[in-house]
Amino acid sequence: MGSIHSFLINLFVIVISILFMQFWMNKRDISSRQYEYVVFVTFGFSIILCMLFPFKISEGFIFDLRFISFILACFYAHPITAAALGVLVAVIRSIHGGDGAWIPIIILPILFTLCMELRPVFNRNKMYSRIAILSFLTFLTCIAVLVCIYVIFQHPLPREFVYSFIIIHVLGMILSIYLIEFFRSQNLILTRLIRMEKVEVVSHLAASISHEIRNPLTSSRGFVQMVQESPGLQDKDKEFLNIAVQEMDRATAIIHDYLTFAKPAPDKIDTISTKETIEKAIGVIQPLANMNNVIIHSRLSTHHVEGNQSLFLQALINLLKNSIEAMPQGGEIRVTSHAESKKVHILIEDDGIGMTPLQVTRLGEPYFSTKEGKGTGLGMMVVFRVIEAMNGAIQIDSEPGIGTKINVCLPIFKTC
Ligand code: ADP
Ligand code: MG
Repeated sequence: MGSIHSFLINLFVIVISILFMQFWMNKRDISSRQYEYVVFVTFGFSIILCMLFPFKISEGFIFDLRFISFILACFYAHPITAAALGVLVAVIRSIHGGDGAWIPIIILPILFTLCMELRPVFNRNKMYSRIAILSFLTFLTCIAVLVCIYVIFQHPLPREFVYSFIIIHVLGMILSIYLIEFFRSQNLILTRLIRMEKVEVVSHLAASISHEIRNPLTSSRGFVQMVQESPGLQDKDKEFLNIAVQEMDRATAIIHDYLTFAKPAPDKIDTISTKETIEKAIGVIQPLANMNNVIIHSRLSTHHVEGNQSLFLQALINLLKNSIEAMPQGGEIRVTSHAESKKVHILIEDDGIGMTPLQVTRLGEPYFSTKEGKGTGLGMMVVFRVIEAMNGAIQIDSEPGIGTKINVCLPIFKTC
């Protein structure tokens, strides 16, 4: 009976730690560093509690579910947080003493390395593949732990212990990932819903106001320029008029973004050469890149996709502009394209300031901008709408201080 209690406590502790972590993840104002602290404390507690309440399957053999929390941290937290948790397990087990203390010392570094190798594959996959990957990894971990127990204690392992050790760990892992992925997808749906509502409001406003403002703005700009050219103007007046023109240009740029957005469904569908359009976008953005000491490298393959060429060009310009703006001290942007299973992947990589996971989920939300006063927060919204209209998808990998990698994936129309 005591063992069942302990088993339920282990399971309960893991489920509670997952719920607690999700609660913090949904908080919009939490920084990624704070989130890592929360993960460390939550999983740390769950590991300690699991170790305090081990359960007995057969006489002389006890175990707990500490490895589940450790493996979860390896895939859902920063590698440093996961490594710190590994050290925590090894230290606590060493304090407890006995020959069994060698097991985490042997297993954890190998498991950690394996998890880090599998992390990119895991991140690329969806829920069911993730469950399969982690269940298999848990199975391997169980086998390794059992072999260690056998070698260290030189004692045959009871069959029911071996079976229950493996089955309980694998089932515990399946339940844990299912819970995490379920809450994550719910959170994603909620974020999308909020975004869609905001987008709808913006789109109505955009359509009705933008046109009305653009025309008077264009004529005013013309008149200001005429005054600028009139003779006998003082330098100071010229400077003021120059600022007026610049501000009008900024207003026009914002309206341009609104209009691109308000008319997302392309009227004219063209067959677009990705190589030509990317080269054109690089050409348009080159002066801005030069001004910011940014070098753009490209390695492009020739493929064709379907969509509105000018909107697609605008989306690429917006992406490149963001990468340039993310590197205020200058740097390098790498633009590559290649085909993979009937899709063309356009990769735009920069070594800029990067984004936190929270900022990544907010990308494409109207008015979301970290460029106080300088950004419109509409560029990525346009990018998402245009790529969606072309039946494409965007994947964003970003790490603060390291850089951002944007993968625009579009169905190939025709390959030359
Ligand atoms: P804006 O550029 O006007 O701020 P966007 O919609 O283009 O609006 O981008 C929204 C926000 O996303 C930016 O303010 C910036 O914080 C972030 N962002 C977009 N692309 C990148 C990037 N390549 N590197 C870092 N941050 C980026
Ligand atoms: Mg932008």
